[in-house]
Amino acid sequence: MSEPVFKAVFRCAAGCPGDHSIWQPIYNCPTCGDLLQVVHDVPALKKRGPTSWMRLFEERYKHTTWPYGSGVWGKKEWVCPELRNDNIVSMDEGGTNLFWAERYGHELGLDDLWVKMCGNSHTGSFKDLGMTVLVSVVKQMMANGSPVRAVACASTGDTSAALAAFAASAGIPAIVFLPRGLVSPAQLVQPLSNGASVLALDTDFDGCMKIVQRLVREEGVYLANSMNSLRIEGQKTISVEIVQQFDWQVPDWVIIPGGNLGNVSALGAGFDLMHDLGLIDKRPRIVVAQAEAANPLYRAYRNNWQFEPITARATLASAIRIGNPVSIRKAIATLQRYDGIVEQASEAELADAAARADLTGMFNCPHTGVALAALEKLVARGDIRRDDRVVVISTAAGLKFAEFKIAYHTATGTARRRYANAPIELPNDYDAVRRAIDDAAAAKATRS
Ligand SMILES: *Cc1c(COP(=O)(O)O)cnc(C)c1O
Ligand SMILES: [Zn+2]
Repeated sequence: MSEPVFKAVFRCAAGCPGDHSIWQPIYNCPTCGDLLQVVHDVPALKKRGPTSWMRLFEERYKHTTWPYGSGVWGKKEWVCPELRNDNIVSMDEGGTNLFWAERYGHELGLDDLWVKMCGNSHTGSFKDLGMTVLVSVVKQMMANGSPVRAVACASTGDTSAALAAFAASAGIPAIVFLPRGLVSPAQLVQPLSNGASVLALDTDFDGCMKIVQRLVREEGVYLANSMNSLRIEGQKTISVEIVQQFDWQVPDWVIIPGGNLGNVSALGAGFDLMHDLGLIDKRPRIVVAQAEAANPLYRAYRNNWQFEPITARATLASAIRIGNPVSIRKAIATLQRYDGIVEQASEAELADAAARADLTGMFNCPHTGVALAALEKLVARGDIRRDDRVVVISTAAGLKFAEFKIAYHTATGTARRRYANAPIELPNDYDAVRRAIDDAAAAKATRS
């Protein structure tokens, strides 16, 4: 049997008519200026039945037949079907662990809480899922003679790390714009190591975004931010992978931290496609969690979905410090389809939630802390019930944010935090060690 030919095109997310090729540098609808989205040929995809798709994805999952062992490229027909395999730039993204957070869940009164570790990835965040698609498309465009000088992005840290790594793997020049002093040392050193041009600007993310958009318009540079919806195609495999990991069962809730709001749009797009193709017949409820200091979606949610950009303030959750999210309209549409909720977390709440969950064996980044704080609020309010199946999306590896954790555990005086566990510094003396162990045990006993 010959494989059916699948196709994907860009179409205006606001519904203007007309298809646009994904093989040309275009990011906005030429008619109304809204974002584009990738639209697949669903009738063609439907020629393969749901069970057959499931079987295909299971056969490929984490196996070694390149590139299909990748969590993204194992779903290639749903992601970017016309890409030639020799142009795929993959570092085996996806396939991340989804674990039962038994002890933390029980502390909160939940029996079925799971954490999807999207940060256990090549560059330590979920951004790899989208970047493998975008850079592969650029590679094919260049192979076909398109004059792309470089790929570029504005970033709060993780996008630039992913872009720099995949571009370096493909041998394509990368330019990344970072708000100076506002990304973690680990995030800064990744694009430096991968040889990208790293431009640290005296502005915030939203300021970097304006400059890169101008560069893209005027200089023949290809835009790698999530307003380029090719990234969404890779990221939407998160939903497919979660459902696959639950033996094709849909959870009741998915909680995700949101900044530029591409990832929540991707999550919805993944569930939509599974629904359209008959793999699932139920939709989860989606919760977006924002830092109170950078909460434009939360404000819109509270205000009948009326959106106003804000100036985002400093937050420990630096990767979601965004005041004017590019994918705001897609995100609102997603939340409307998925009976969505938006919740926010203060700095203390996000840090305490991350640290509390760490005490059950996790090692959470601050953004995951925002999602966990939202989870705790929804459980306390009774929105989420004991036997609901809940998935929290962990977006980055905690090790990329070591400074956040060190500061939490070593703060003293009135700044000392609830779950702080500072190192005990001692002389080289056995009796002092014994006393310190007894004191620490006694202190723990009085705390719990
Ligand atoms: C990018 C990022 C987010 C936010 O994703 P958006 O698509 O911008 O909403 C959350 N957490 C981490 C760690 C990120 O890098
Ligand atoms: Zn349009």
